[in-house]
Amino acid sequence: MIELSERLKTMEESATIAMAQKSRELKAKGLDVISLSLGEPDFHTPQFIKEAAIDAMNNNFTSYTPVPGYLDLREAIAEKFKRDNNINYTPEQIVASTGAKQSIANVVLSLVGKGDEVIIPAPFWVSYIEIVKVAEGKPVIVNAGIESDFKITPQQLEEAITSKTKLMIFSSPCNPTGSVYSKEELRALADVIKKHPKLVVISDEIYEHINFSGAHASLAQFEDVYEQVVTVNGVSKAWAMTGWRLGYIGAPLEIAKACSKIQGQFTSAPCSITQKATIAALKADPSVLKDMIHAFKSRRELVLNKLKEIKGIKTNTPEGAFYVFPDVSAFFGKSFQGETIKNANDLAMFLLNEAHVALVTGEAFGDKNCIRISYAASEETLKEAMKRIKSALEKLN
Ligand code: PMP
Ligand code: GLU
Repeated sequence: MIELSERLKTMEESATIAMAQKSRELKAKGLDVISLSLGEPDFHTPQFIKEAAIDAMNNNFTSYTPVPGYLDLREAIAEKFKRDNNINYTPEQIVASTGAKQSIANVVLSLVGKGDEVIIPAPFWVSYIEIVKVAEGKPVIVNAGIESDFKITPQQLEEAITSKTKLMIFSSPCNPTGSVYSKEELRALADVIKKHPKLVVISDEIYEHINFSGAHASLAQFEDVYEQVVTVNGVSKAWAMTGWRLGYIGAPLEIAKACSKIQGQFTSAPCSITQKATIAALKADPSVLKDMIHAFKSRRELVLNKLKEIKGIKTNTPEGAFYVFPDVSAFFGKSFQGETIKNANDLAMFLLNEAHVALVTGEAFGDKNCIRISYAASEETLKEAMKRIKSALEKLN
């Protein structure tokens, strides 16, 4: 009999991926399901990036690469950090990995051991907690509700720090709330961080370019916390390259070396062809993303306006990423055909079964009152999905 490890038994499956899988299965059975569950752009990778990959293959960039990535890739990433984020990293401080997910896992495994505390502001992206659990760390959740635009205050951070705190992980723009920390808000968090020199912060900036509030602000730009911050980014979201699998970090040298050591044993390096394609993406002027950002912004308006028409739903105004995270707690306790909706899990299942729209329960992101809608879909699809959601919710009483 196979006995799986304790580590695996305590780990939750990724709720975002699980819901996407469930809707694929229902579609395969012939059901007309609209999936707004997965955080994945519906655009295709731009042609010039595909051409760079084809050139890489034709030029035989098909062998193992240096563990942290080709030097010209790391130089392009260093340039990007300087150009877009006002952060100076040398190529030695950069490690490219098989997606930002692996970048985060490398950092957590490098820093966190048994019983170390990791501060995770909630709502959080589903994988942070599970990766910390694999490292046998202890997640310390700091709750930020809709009334504070789902952002924590410096005081909350200060109160969560103990002598066992090793790490904090957060994203801005945030998955699942779309909230964006302004430069001033980050500066105020940095004032707390610098008082605790042993604390390291993973600043996950993968949605950097999908920001409707103006300029993106990076935590590591502040020199007094530069040595405490690992900046995570990648090409999945902005460049519609989710399947290519490339993420990267800029980090203090010691952490970058530790991540390379781990990666050298786990995956050797990210895909050689993807690395060359990524150079093309990073060298392109980010203003070429204008049309995509414009499309996301009008989709956000559409979803927010439709949600306003549904009595009982509360939302913030997400300033980035491609998610809306409405509070749906007004529907808890209501019933349909003898079934009572007790929580966000029940509501997500009800909407899947009744409206044939797949969303993700807020519980997976650390907020029991909410549900996540990914609006990385066409306006037509979104209109149909919102119509179905509204009429299904109207059946509850
Ligand atoms: N961070 C956040 C906040 C995300 O939403 C995602 C989604 N995929 C990732 C990291 C990982 O991205 P990837 O592994 O595709 O680079
Ligand atoms: N990050 C995306 C999401 O939150 C993709 C799925 C995943 O990697 O979990 O839906």
